[in-house]
Amino acid sequence: MAENTYLTTEEVAKLLNVHSNTVARWIKSGKLPSTKIGREYRIPREAIENRVNRVASGTRIIAVANQKGGVAKTTSTLNLAAGLAAREKRVLVVDLDPQGGSGVSIGVATDSLNKTVYNVLINDEVGFPDIIMKTKFGFDLAPSNIDLAGAEIELKQLLASEQVLKRKLEEILDDYDYVLLDCPPSLGMLTINALTAAKEVLIPMAMELLALRGLDMLSQTIGKIRTITNPDLQYLGMLPTKYDKTTLNSKEIYTALQASANNAGIRVFNTYIPLTVRITESPRFKTPIIVQLPNHEGATAYQTVVEEIINGKQ
Ligand code: ADP
Ligand code: MG
Repeated sequence: MAENTYLTTEEVAKLLNVHSNTVARWIKSGKLPSTKIGREYRIPREAIENRVNRVASGTRIIAVANQKGGVAKTTSTLNLAAGLAAREKRVLVVDLDPQGGSGVSIGVATDSLNKTVYNVLINDEVGFPDIIMKTKFGFDLAPSNIDLAGAEIELKQLLASEQVLKRKLEEILDDYDYVLLDCPPSLGMLTINALTAAKEVLIPMAMELLALRGLDMLSQTIGKIRTITNPDLQYLGMLPTKYDKTTLNSKEIYTALQASANNAGIRVFNTYIPLTVRITESPRFKTPIIVQLPNHEGATAYQTVVEEIINGKQ
C-alpha cells in the first residue's frame, strides 16, 4: 500500500500533464508537499488529488480574439485586466501577439527580455513562472516580443500542437482567478492554442466599415475548436468597440452587429466602448485608461464590462 500513497515526481508529472521540472519547481516553492527519500522526492497522492479538483473548478480563462487587427483586443485586455485587478481578482494577461505589445503599451521593455511566452511554448523546460512579471496595475503579465513570430511555424512541429498553451497554463491556474489571452490578428496556431486553452471567448468588434466581415470565419473556427479540441468553449460575448457617437455609421454597424450576433447565437455586451481620442493616445501614457482617467467615458464603459464579466451572463 505504501507505494500507492506516495508518488515520484515523474508519476506526478504524468498525472498532471506537466514537465517533471515543473513538479520540481512546485516542490521547491512549497506549493506541493513532499518528503525526501535519499535524493529523491516523494509526493503524497492526496495532494495531487486535491490539486486536480481545484484546477478543474476555478480560473476563468478568457481568449480575447478577432483575426482583424486594430479592433481593440489589446486595449480591451489591458483595461479589463486592470479593472478586474481593482476588484481584488488575481489576473494574468498572456500576450500572444508577436507585434501586439501588451507589454509595450504599459511600459514594459519587452525587446530586452530573453525569456518570453515564446520560450514557454517551445521549450519543455521553461514554464510560465519563469517569465511572469508583476505590473503596476495590479495584474501579472506573461510578456512577448517579436520572438513569438517564430512560434506559428515551430508549434506545428510539436505533438498535439494546439494543446501546448493549455498544458503550460495548468501549472499556474490556481494562482489566478482570471487569465486573459490577448490574441494576434490571425487564425493561426497561436489563436488556435488560445481558443483551445480558453473556457470563454470575448470578441471585440470595432464599429467600422467591414467590421463584420470576419465574423463568419471566426465563428467557423470556434465551431471547429469546439468539435475537435475544446467542447466546453463558450462565447462570453461580443464587445462593440470604437463606437463613434458623432456619426450614423457606428449606429448602423451596431444594429447589423446585433443581428449577426443573434444569428450566430452570440451575446452582445450591454455596453459599448466609445471611440475617444484619449484611448487612441493611451499607449503614450503607458497606462490603461481605466487606471489613468477612471471617470472618463471610455474608462466607465470598461468598468461596466468588468461588472458584466464578474456578474456573469445577463
Ligand atoms: P488590436 O489589439 O485588436 O490590434 P488595439 O487594442 O491595439 O487593437 O487598438 C488598435 C488601435 O486603436 C490603438 O492605437 C488603440 O489605441 C486604438 N483604440 C482602441 N480602442 C479605441 C477607442 N475606443 N477609441 C479610440 N482609439 C482606440
Ligand atoms: Mg493587439
